[in-house]
Amino acid sequence: MSERTLAIIKPDAVKKNVMGDVLNRYEKAGLKPVAMKLMQMSRPTAEGFYAVHKARPFFDSLCTFMCSGPSLVMVLQGDNAIKKNRELMGATDPAKAEPGTIRKAHGTNIEFNAVHGSDSPETAKFEVGYFFSGMEIFG
Ligand code: ADP
Ligand code: MG
Repeated sequence: MSERTLAIIKPDAVKKNVMGDVLNRYEKAGLKPVAMKLMQMSRPTAEGFYAVHKARPFFDSLCTFMCSGPSLVMVLQGDNAIKKNRELMGATDPAKAEPGTIRKAHGTNIEFNAVHGSDSPETAKFEVGYFFSGMEIFG
């Protein structure tokens, strides 16, 4: 079933000049970018996006990281896009990520881990709508 998921190439990966490699991995896996914007998040934008993690000890540092430079924020569309993207990404901690995954290749540590991907249909709906209006998505 064709689905949409929100993906972010985080500031660490943009700084490392690996946007092209990550986009290539999405496209090769059948995940088509149908909306994208290069943006530097404001603090309130990052805090709202990660509101679910507000009580976590890493929340403040995570928001500082996400505002530290431009990110490539996009909507990916394809069969089982949510799960497929999580598989491409690998585990949150790059040290534990499977070989061949984006985080294994480009992540630095559990915080600076190169990419974001929605983790469920409900999350994807919220996250896509958080950054994009219907008119900005080419499905
Ligand atoms: P994922 O991005 O794999 O869905 P989470 O939703 O648990 O992971 O966490 C969101 C983001 O917060 C992670 O991608 C990472 O950047 C950061 N993060 C998660 N756990 C930690 C931690 N223990 N210490 C620092 N940063 C963390
Ligand atoms: Mg998550």
